[in-house]
Parts: sequence; C-alpha cells; structure tokens
Amino acid sequence: MKSFLPGSTIGILGGGQLGRMLAQAAKPMGYKVLTLDPSENSPCGQVADLQIVAKFSDLIAAKEFSQKCEVATIEFENVDAKAVELIEKQGILVRPSSKVLHVTQNRLRQKEFLRGIGIGTANFRKIGKEGRRSNSKDATKIELQFPAILKTASLGYDGKGQWIIANGKEVQKIVLKNQGVEFILEEKVDFQKEISIVGARGVDGKIVVYPVSENVHKNGILDTTIVPAGISRKIEIEAQKIIKKIAVKFDYVGVLCVEMFLLQNGKLLVNEIAPRTHNSGHYSIDACKVSQFEQQVRAVCGIKLEKPQLQSACCMANILGDGSGNVLKGTEKLLLEKNVYLHLYGKTDAKKNRKMGHFTVLAKTPKLAFEKAQKLRKYLKWAKK
Ligand code: AMP
Repeated sequence: MKSFLPGSTIGILGGGQLGRMLAQAAKPMGYKVLTLDPSENSPCGQVADLQIVAKFSDLIAAKEFSQKCEVATIEFENVDAKAVELIEKQGILVRPSSKVLHVTQNRLRQKEFLRGIGIGTANFRKIGKEGRRSNSKDATKIELQFPAILKTASLGYDGKGQWIIANGKEVQKIVLKNQGVEFILEEKVDFQKEISIVGARGVDGKIVVYPVSENVHKNGILDTTIVPAGISRKIEIEAQKIIKKIAVKFDYVGVLCVEMFLLQNGKLLVNEIAPRTHNSGHYSIDACKVSQFEQQVRAVCGIKLEKPQLQSACCMANILGDGSGNVLKGTEKLLLEKNVYLHLYGKTDAKKNRKMGHFTVLAKTPKLAFEKAQKLRKYLKWAKK
C-alpha cells in the first residue's frame, strides 16, 4: 500500500473549483499541488504551486504532468481517458483509476454497471446513433414510459445535453440533429426528493461516509443542499449500503458521490455516480471536522481516513452567474453574518448558470439554515461595475 508523505506533489487533472478547494485542503497538510487545465487562469491554477496549461487530450502535456507529480487525481471526470492511461503507464497512480473513469464517463456504462451489481436505476434505453432504440446489453426489457429524459451518453453535466421528451418522434428529431452522438433515454422519475451521499475509500479498503444531503436542483443544476436530509434512518442506511457497494465493486480509492432519487414509495434509484468530490458535499468544508477535500487528500495520498463528524445542521447555496455582469455585490453582508461562510472560485466571467461560488449557513436545524440561506441570497447581485 503506497502512501505519499507531506512534501509530495499531488497532480490534479482539471483546474475548476473542485480542484481549487482540493488544493486549499492539501496545502495546510503540507502537500504541493500541480494542476493541468486548458485555461490560463483556472480556479485551481490560481492557488496551485504548479500548473500546466494544455488540453486534456494533449499527450505531451500528460507526460510532463506525470513527471511533475508523485500521485494524481481528478477533479473533472471527463478528462481524456488516453491521457489518464498514459499517466498510469508512466508509473503514476491515478486515484480513482482509469478503469473506474472508463465506466463513469459514460451514462450507459454507468447504468449498466449499477444494474449489474443489483442497484436500481430509472428504466433506460440506449439510443443508437441513427436514432433507433438499440438493445443495450443490460437495459431493462420493460417498455419505456413517457415523459422521458434524453441525455447524451457522455460529456453532459449540470443539465447540459438533456431534453425532456414527450414521445418517440421527438427523440428521432434530436438524434437527427446530433449525428454521431450516442444517447441514453431514461424514464422521467417521479421522485419525492433528490438526495446524495459522499463517501471515500482508502487504500486499506476502509470506507467513510458523509451524512446524506438533500438537494434541490433548478434547470438541472444544483441550487441548494441541506444536511442532514429529511429522510428516515432506514433510507440513510440504504444510501450508505449503495455507496459502499459501488466503492467495493470498483475497488475504489478516493472520494465519490452517488446521486439518488427517493421515490414516493420509499425506494432509492441511483441517478449518477461522480468519481470525485461533489457540489453537494461542499457543506463539509464548514460543517464537518474533515471536509470532503481533506478526505480526498487522505485517500489519494494513502493516509488513514477520518470520520467526517458533522458539527451542525446546514444549508449550502450555490452562487451562479446570470450574464448581467461580472462583479458580485452584497458579499459584505454575508461576510458579517455569524455562522455563514462564503467561497468564491476566482472565475472572472459570470456567464449565465456558471457556478461562481457558494455559501454555507450553519444553524440549529436544516430548515432554519435553509430559510437563512434564502434570505441572504437576496443580497447577492451581479453588476457590470
Ligand atoms: P443529471 O445530469 O443526470 O444529474 O441530471 C440533472 C438533474 O435533472 C437531476 O438532478 C434531476 O433533477 C433531473 N433528472 C435527471 N434525470 C432524471 C430522471 N430520469 N427523472 C427525473 N429527473 C431527472
């Protein structure tokens, strides 16, 4: 079991906010951070010790990356699989491995994997490139009900590459417009709640799990997370069993998140596995003794994992750009509030729906935290100057 001591350099593939917060956790633990991202001034690049500015598919850059770090991880799951394999071939451990990424990078492979290990998902079909339903190996034999959701099998995130579909003809139209793209068609699930669970598995096989988060999405993008989720102990245990099973079957090392739908009848279906830290786990920075980012450093570097230890109920609210300007007004109000923690990601262009930051409110109950977050959010406004 290989471990990496302080002073080692952790390579992060991707330079977004997840990489930035990972670097912010790694630095006080004595690690150096290298990031690889196509943009010059990436959120992670701003705080990392070293950065390589290159496309994820640039194999020369991937080789340089492997020469400049001792162990590697990802903060963006759609990194080029060939580049990850090349880094591994150079003798650098990538945690999680390219084998895991191969499955998680594609929604069809993910759902087939989940079904294969006995975990429930929405009924789905592979839609072939010509727009016809094709018999995906493990797809359910049950006819799909409409409305359904058509998603690109790979490269979609935050609701991008998704369409709500009323009938089969609509599927044909979209597929014809997107020649050569592989899709998954999923039944639209009538859920009572969306929840997620973050966990980590160490090199010794030990698994730690975070409290279950209750998530509200708007336009397919996470809006708020409250913790603990308003669910029964039975459902919490079921969610823990699901994440543990996935982590073991993958022989996983690192942090992962499993997003789930809680159905009206109390059943859980998995929507998605994220092989990394997750937006719904950001609350852990301010509300837990060990954040998901510190846990990622521990797992990747082969240090013993620690229980998260939730210190308070909380609500995390995302701050999205709205396209009206790049200057965020009203932050001073949040900075003066007790038990409120603001995190901005250093992005300069506040494009509509771009994740620019988040804040976490700690309170006596999740409901109080949620209400306070809603009030505080009103102070934040994007402006030109
Ligand atoms: P995803 O990109 O798959 O995580 O989807 C983003 C959001 O769209 C989810 O968090 C849900 O709110 C919604 N969504 C995705 N798939 C489904 C589904 N099969 N049924 C109902 N809602 C869904």
